[in-house]
Amino acid sequence: MSPAEPEMPEMDPLPTPRFITAGEVPGLLSMRECIEAVERAFLALAGERTEQPLRTVIPLPDGRSSFLSMPAWLGDPPALGAKLLTLFPGNHERGIESHQGLIVLFDPDTGSPVLVVDAGPVTAIRTAAASAVATRALARKDASTLAILGSGVQARTHLEAMLLVRPIRRVRAWSRTRTHLEAFAREMEERHGLPVQMAPDARSAVEGADVVCTVTGASEPVLRGAWLSAGCHVNAVGASTAITRELDSNAVARSAFFVDRVESALAEAGDWILARSEGAVRDEELAGELGRVLTRDLPGRRAPDQITVFKSLGLAVQDLAAAALILENLKDG
Ligand code: NDP
Repeated sequence: MSPAEPEMPEMDPLPTPRFITAGEVPGLLSMRECIEAVERAFLALAGERTEQPLRTVIPLPDGRSSFLSMPAWLGDPPALGAKLLTLFPGNHERGIESHQGLIVLFDPDTGSPVLVVDAGPVTAIRTAAASAVATRALARKDASTLAILGSGVQARTHLEAMLLVRPIRRVRAWSRTRTHLEAFAREMEERHGLPVQMAPDARSAVEGADVVCTVTGASEPVLRGAWLSAGCHVNAVGASTAITRELDSNAVARSAFFVDRVESALAEAGDWILARSEGAVRDEELAGELGRVLTRDLPGRRAPDQITVFKSLGLAVQDLAAAALILENLKDG
C-alpha cells in the first residue's frame, strides 16, 4: 500500500433486504394481527411518535397517471421506510393492475434496508384493518347489519375485518356491475359461511344498516345521508382526492366526522372539502382524529343514535406498521 492511501476500516457487507411477493403476504400478515399493529400506529400518531409528511404526488405527462411517495418514521411499532406507488388508470385496458407499488423498510437503528414488500395486498389488508380500528372505537357494540358498497379488493378485506370487530349477522352488498356483485357474494359466502344479500341499489343496502363501508372508485356520491339510520357508523374509504367523493353533503353534515389525519383530510378528503364548499359543514366541526379517540383525548360516539363517519385516506404509518409485522413474522417463522 502506498503511504498516501488512507486506511479504510473493515465494514460488514450490507444485508440483502428480503423481497416479499404478493403471494407471500397473506401468510405473513393476518387481518387480526394487522388490526392491532395499525391501532398502535394510530396511537403513535396521536402521541406524536411519528414523522410523516403529506404524500407527494407527481403527475405524469400522459395527464392521467401519477407516481406517489409516502415516507414515514414510526415510533411504535418501530419502523422506518416508505411506500412508493404508481397509479396508471389506463392499465385496466392492458389487463394490468392500476395501483402498483412497493413498501421499503429500513432498520430504524442502523438505517440498513431490510425488507421490500409488494404493496398491493398490504394496502388491501392495512386499509381494512384501519377501518376495523375505527369501527371498534366508534360503532355501536351491538352493530349486527353490515352494508358494503363496492365489490373489489377493499370490499373483500373490509368484510373480513368487520366480522372480527362486531357481531355481524347480516351482510348486504351493492356494486355497480351485477356480475362483480354476484362473484363477490359467492366468494364471501364460501369464505365466511355467512349469506351475503345482493342489494338492487345502494339505498336498499344501506337503509337499516348499523355499519356501512364505502369502498368504491366513485368520484360522485354513492351514499346519501338520507339513507343512514340513527346510530349507524360509516367507513368512507374510496375517494382520496379533494375533488372526488363517495358521500353527499347531507351524510357529512348528519355525522360526527372522524378522520385518520386532520392535515391530510383538509388537503385531500373530497367528502369533507366538497361538503364544506357547499356550506354543509365548517372545519371547526370536524370531529377529529381517530388516534385521539383511542387515547381518549377526544370523545368518540356520544350517543347510541349518533351517526359516526371514519374518513380513511390511508397513511404511510399504516403501511410501515404492517410491513414491520411481516418482518417480525419472518423472523419468528
Ligand atoms: P377495485 O378496483 O378492486 O374496486 C373498485 C370498486 O369500485 C368496484 O367494486 C367498482 O364496482 C366500484 N366502482 C368503480 N367506479 C365506480 C363508480 N363510478 N360508481 C360506483 N362504483 C364504482 O378497487 P379497491 O377495492 O382496491 O379500492 C376501492 C377504493 O378504495 C378506491 O377508490 C381506492 O382508491 C380506495 N383505496 C383507499 C385506501 C385508503 O387507505 N383509504 C387504500 C386503497 C384503496 P364494479 O366493479 O361493480 O363496477
